[in-house]
Amino acid sequence: MNAIEVDTTRLPLLLHDLRLPAIARLWPDFAERADKEGWPAARLLSVLAELELAERGRRRVERHLVEARLPAGKTLDNFDFTAVPMLSKARVMALAAGDAWLDKASNLLLFGPPGAGKSHCASAISHALIENGYRVLFTRTTDIVQKLQVARQGLQLEAAIAKLDKYDLLVLDDLSYVHKDHAETSVLFELIGARYERRSMLITANQPFADWSKVFPDQAMMIAAVDRLVHHSIIFEMNVESYRRRGALDRKARAAASSKRSTEPVEP
Ligand code: ADP
Ligand code: MG
Repeated sequence: MNAIEVDTTRLPLLLHDLRLPAIARLWPDFAERADKEGWPAARLLSVLAELELAERGRRRVERHLVEARLPAGKTLDNFDFTAVPMLSKARVMALAAGDAWLDKASNLLLFGPPGAGKSHCASAISHALIENGYRVLFTRTTDIVQKLQVARQGLQLEAAIAKLDKYDLLVLDDLSYVHKDHAETSVLFELIGARYERRSMLITANQPFADWSKVFPDQAMMIAAVDRLVHHSIIFEMNVESYRRRGALDRKARAAASSKRSTEPVEP
């Protein structure tokens, strides 16, 4: 049987121009296999198309992970749920899957003292959401307030807030560290208003609302902001001692126990 000669010299260029890098890389091996095993042409075409699509999906997730600026290495895999007994693992897993909360533009509010694991939890949920196809931006509240202020000075506040619409979830870490004395924080109010009932936010703070009058320029603005945030919201109160501190105490206790053991007389 005579194999029909096919000129494939232009193929790499064509596939490059068509932006099909997976097919460009994989077609020679698959074509050889198809020839050897007598695959129908339609099978070869569909296998290559599926591979390109899968790789495109993986690249998209990678891009979204980079753009999200999550703290490194804080995932659900290394989040110790036993340290926060009041947090339902099943509930967190459901939120991390996306669920309906992002479609409904609900907010997630995490409260707890420093070291309770709020940022870790927020990052872990964000990480999982991105892997499930959502887009997230993780920011320290002080950073985003500063950026939005710069935008406002350039009369670009509305555009800057609109740009954040592409994120299904915007994480504002440490809201209570923002201080109205440091800066004019009404931009935060604008942001909350703009996302209200349209796009979700995840906010972490040390205190549930108690200190927020320090954050917003006036009482009316604070009440309106809290009202919008909690209207459709899920609230987790993570009232546990600092994870780091507990780790240090555990280590100290273990060290004390082992030094005690080593000084105890050995039983005959
Ligand atoms: P917070 O944001 O509430 O101040 P972090 O999330 O920054 O606390 O947690 C402080 C440190 O302790 C981080 O290194 C974090 O990874 C770790 N940590 C806190 N809680 C947990 C937990 N439940 N499981 C694993 N690591 C945790
Ligand atoms: Mg934190």
